[in-house]
Amino acid sequence: MKMPPFDYACPATLSEAVALLAAHDGDAKVLAGGQSLVPLMALRLARFDHLVDLNPVSELRYVHAGDVLSVGAMTVQATLERSLDVARAAPLLARAARHVGHFQIRNRGTLGGSCAHADPAAELPAVAVTLDAEFEVIGPRGLRRIPAGEFFESTFMTALAPDEIVAAGIIHVPEGRRLFAGMNVRENLLMGAYHRRDGTAAIRRDLDVVFGMFSRLYERRLQDASTLSGGEQQMCAIARGLMAAPRLLMIDELSLGLAPRIVEELGEALAKINATGLSILLVEQDVLTALDLSHRAFVMVSGRVTLSGPSKSLADNPFIREAYLGVSSAAGVAS
Ligand SMILES: Cc1cc2nc3c(=O)[nH]c(=O)nc-3n(C[C@H](O)[C@H](O)[C@H](O)COP(=O)(O)OP(=O)(O)OC[C@H]3O[C@@H](n4cnc5c(N)ncnc54)[C@H](O)[C@@H]3O)c2cc1C
Repeated sequence: MKMPPFDYACPATLSEAVALLAAHDGDAKVLAGGQSLVPLMALRLARFDHLVDLNPVSELRYVHAGDVLSVGAMTVQATLERSLDVARAAPLLARAARHVGHFQIRNRGTLGGSCAHADPAAELPAVAVTLDAEFEVIGPRGLRRIPAGEFFESTFMTALAPDEIVAAGIIHVPEGRRLFAGMNVRENLLMGAYHRRDGTAAIRRDLDVVFGMFSRLYERRLQDASTLSGGEQQMCAIARGLMAAPRLLMIDELSLGLAPRIVEELGEALAKINATGLSILLVEQDVLTALDLSHRAFVMVSGRVTLSGPSKSLADNPFIREAYLGVSSAAGVAS
């Protein structure tokens, strides 16, 4: 069977695409990867007189990771599957993308197309709802953001107006200790091993090591990670870092919001980890804790390294003692 005839437009920019949709007064359809639209048209299950092809619109193909993960609508599923930024910021999205069809489909099918198509059996819409994503949508009336929970209205139905284009999907990256709520402790730890290719036996062995090191996590292994205390969440975040089998473990603000007793306990754990030969880079505003735990320290002021050296000698530095430890020094401080 052949497709019914249609007019084909090939805009170079998003604003041109929006103008074309507006000119056809809702009578045109956007073409993305074509993996759902083309079969429907070829089988004559759908007929559209005008197609607006988004493939040349390069401004819709990107992955930006920061406080939020922002993915352009024309980003193909294969990119979601392979991008390190996606894997770090939204591992569920990376894992789900792998299950979409087969690789030929994923090389063409897009995030925007998959979501705008709203097939209830599709992976990406389910992920968008699970992660409380938002869609950035552009039309002749301007831009609006629609939460995924409101975007998907029913089977193959969305909140998109006929003249609107999905421009991006936005996912909020977990804050603070970046644990995944809704996943238990064991699952959070296994997410740390997501990138490893050294086999499940090695991952299981490391899980046992980590549980041996943090017995509290073992006791709570089936508990939702979001219900752990602050100290346990920090423990879980460190343990998840270890599950990635890193060559350098980086920890941002170990002591953030934690009681001194817990910080001490975590410090002992870090010393044990370091004793296994793993280097640790700790970024910490509690100078006393940082100098106590580390071998070598760098003091940064407004983004510039102002002092560095062995931690023990820095702890005796008059500037550090006065500025950070509140101990006044007869020797005075450099201005
Ligand atoms: C053999 C096969 C197996 C598949 N298996 C799976 C699977 O296992 N899991 C799964 O989830 N999917 C599967 N799919 C569907 C595939 O993921 C499609 O890529 C996806 O559903 C549509 O994305 P697309 O980019 O190809 O969009 P298109 O087919 O080009 O468009 C789909 C619909 O979305 C609209 N649209 C596209 N982009 C936008 C936009 N930016 N703004 C507004 N509207 C837009 C189009 O107008 C159209 O109505 C399969 C498809 C095939 C052919």
